[in-house]
Amino acid sequence: MKIKRNILLNPGPSTTTDTVKMAQVVSDICPREKEFRSIMAPMRKDLVKIVHGEEDYTSVLFCGSGTICIDVCLNSLLAADKKAMVINNGSYSQRAVDVCKAYGLPLIEVKQPIDTTPDLSIIEETLKENEGSVGYVYITYHETGTGLLNPVKEVGALAHKYGAFFITDTTSAYAMIPINVYDQNIDFCMASAQKGIQGMTGLSYVVGKKSIIEESKNYPMRSYYCNLYMQYEFFEKTGEMHFTPPVQTIYAAKQALIEYWKEGEEKKWARHQRVMNAIRAGVDRLGFKEALNRDVQSGLVSAITYPDDQNWDFERIHDYCYERGFTIYPGKIESKSTFRLCALGVIDEDDIVEFWKVFEAGLNEMGVAIPVKYE
Ligand SMILES: *Cc1c(COP(=O)(O)O)cnc(C)c1O
Repeated sequence: MKIKRNILLNPGPSTTTDTVKMAQVVSDICPREKEFRSIMAPMRKDLVKIVHGEEDYTSVLFCGSGTICIDVCLNSLLAADKKAMVINNGSYSQRAVDVCKAYGLPLIEVKQPIDTTPDLSIIEETLKENEGSVGYVYITYHETGTGLLNPVKEVGALAHKYGAFFITDTTSAYAMIPINVYDQNIDFCMASAQKGIQGMTGLSYVVGKKSIIEESKNYPMRSYYCNLYMQYEFFEKTGEMHFTPPVQTIYAAKQALIEYWKEGEEKKWARHQRVMNAIRAGVDRLGFKEALNRDVQSGLVSAITYPDDQNWDFERIHDYCYERGFTIYPGKIESKSTFRLCALGVIDEDDIVEFWKVFEAGLNEMGVAIPVKYE
């Protein structure tokens, strides 16, 4: 079977291999069978190993998109008498704030600019003012809306200094940027199979400290379906997910992990960087400007400012590229019109070279001047 290869430059789901796609085609199976259960234990170990956790870390799988892990961590890991502290500097950390509000959690929101590294002294001041009452500090590892990389290690150190756990949303960094939970002071991180491991949508996982999960047994149970301890306990007792798992997505994830280990952490990161260098080369050649300075970027997302040209039309250039197998994505910055090109998935620099040829032809057809203009 020949499957048309699309180049996805959106921030996940990303381009996958045919072997991962085909891994979903299996005989029908009841997920309560031993045969299916036997996939899960090694998968849980692999997911911990990706961020170099040892026996003191575990992974807990959920059926849902990446946001389910934000929900699970925030609602499950807060003791009754503690406050949540969220560093808010982008649309994904805003999502975390919204989750806290939906649960009515006592919240300390530290708002920071979206286009530059947060001010650690403000974070420390806030922790000092609330010493003893902060349950956890939460930050997004890589803000996928802008491409901003946060100072995770430093914020984690501050959280621990003031006696709080540290949670970071690594959904758009995990299995791409090398992460070490010990070096980076991470108690909890998370991801989704459709992003870093280059699998399918519908499976997400929290990787975190066992001792804290066990302690959270005594915390208020704020959700039935999205409770971390309950899902963890069920896994430990039975080796299964509590409720029906995304069967075919799990088969795809199993294959994706085989391919992850085969490529290797460093080589994979080098490939993503190669892709980003090719993206940046095209940005520079056509005269585009990015919303963020490169020295604060993750190297996985480029947020590009719309040019000032009356013929520029994002929808049109999107459709032009889409019809030719390339998917580009709108931005997520309120104050500025941007679009995004992301270096996720099974793509390499040659794909980006081809993409820029198509994109440039699209600009020509629209009558956009090259190099593009800014006022
Ligand atoms: C993709 C992503 C998520 C999950 O988003 P869904 O729409 O639920 O898949 C969460 N956090 C970050 C930083 C992400 O990039």
